[in-house]
Amino acid sequence: MGRRRRKYRKPQLLRPIRRLPTIFECPNCGARALSVEIRKREKNERGEVKAIIRCGKCGLYAEMWVPEIFQPVDVYSRFLDAFLEGRIEYKFTKEGGEAELSLEELAASEEEEVGEAARESGGGVEEEEEQR
Ligand SMILES: [Zn+2]
Repeated sequence: MGRRRRKYRKPQLLRPIRRLPTIFECPNCGARALSVEIRKREKNERGEVKAIIRCGKCGLYAEMWVPEIFQPVDVYSRFLDAFLEGRIEYKFTKEGGEAELSLEELAASEEEEVGEAARESGGGVEEEEEQR
């Protein structure tokens, strides 16, 4: 007896609720430096939110629209699938990445198309529009 008062309390970590970027393994360079950030403020018409996937090592950068309930790990697994299937647009924010140059290099060395080269780099600009 006398045990009644003893309430077991779960140790609760009272952390401030913050969206910490979560780090995963990068499918491109293999480093554990891939961060997923979910921007709940940016929504599209379908109610999806924007997720930013970025690797701190190789500079891989991609954006995805995901359901609002997605956790970073969900985003990551969806990103992995899309990445491996080649279904996602991504780029490298740093210079010095060795990957993804081969196609352009090959094409450029085989025939030199001067003139329309500038056409290729459209739409790759980051949109940092802040509404309000
Ligand atoms: Zn990487």
